[in-house]
Amino acid sequence: MNKNAHHKKEGIDLGSNMIFGEPTDYFSEFTYFMILEDIDWDAQFYFYYRITDDHYIQIAYGLDDKRHSICAQYQKTNQDLKINLKEMLIKYMKDNRFYGGYLYFVESNLFTECEFTSIIESIKNELEALKGQARILKTPFIDFLEKTNFNPKPTGNNKHSWTIGCPNADGKHFLMISTLNDEWGCGYCKRKGDLEDFKNWLQELDRKKLTQFVKEINTDNDLSDKMKKWWFNRY
Ligand SMILES: [Zn+2]
Repeated sequence: MNKNAHHKKEGIDLGSNMIFGEPTDYFSEFTYFMILEDIDWDAQFYFYYRITDDHYIQIAYGLDDKRHSICAQYQKTNQDLKINLKEMLIKYMKDNRFYGGYLYFVESNLFTECEFTSIIESIKNELEALKGQARILKTPFIDFLEKTNFNPKPTGNNKHSWTIGCPNADGKHFLMISTLNDEWGCGYCKRKGDLEDFKNWLQELDRKKLTQFVKEINTDNDLSDKMKKWWFNRY
């Protein structure tokens, strides 16, 4: 059987998009190495690895050891397997923290609990260091967001990455800011631009709210709680 990687790409697949292939047919080629737990959801994830003939390492996992999908694929380096897997886990868990936070150690035949904890600690330390650098590299855009009570926070993704609650969603989803060129974007609202564009968008949103405000006053003689909150925050 041809044990080459389905895709030559290296990276992390968080959404089970199957970019690295559907492992069901050849799952017997994978070797178990770890169980991690999501405490909030009381869910256990079983982790496996496989080395392909074309020298890729793949990590697959399955909730309750079922329906496994490949979540990471990288070319094997000259270092030993454990170091390779450790590097891949760091990348995976760094990306995954946005979705499920950090997973907890249950058991492993490759890593001790102490080694696993130090992996998580090293991720947290790196994120804090990047957040610190982001605060040092603050720009006029971030100053503006602080002055206007958007409460911007560095994400730790890189030293230029910040986030705020999107003004078009009462903070229910997030908008990203990069201080590299002082640009922002909301994937959800499909809007992006520079500081001027952001200010214009705020005015546009304010006008929309104002129209709604006037409409509510005229029709109901009574304002909704949401509208009252907006009105009082406006001044
Ligand atoms: Zn948005």
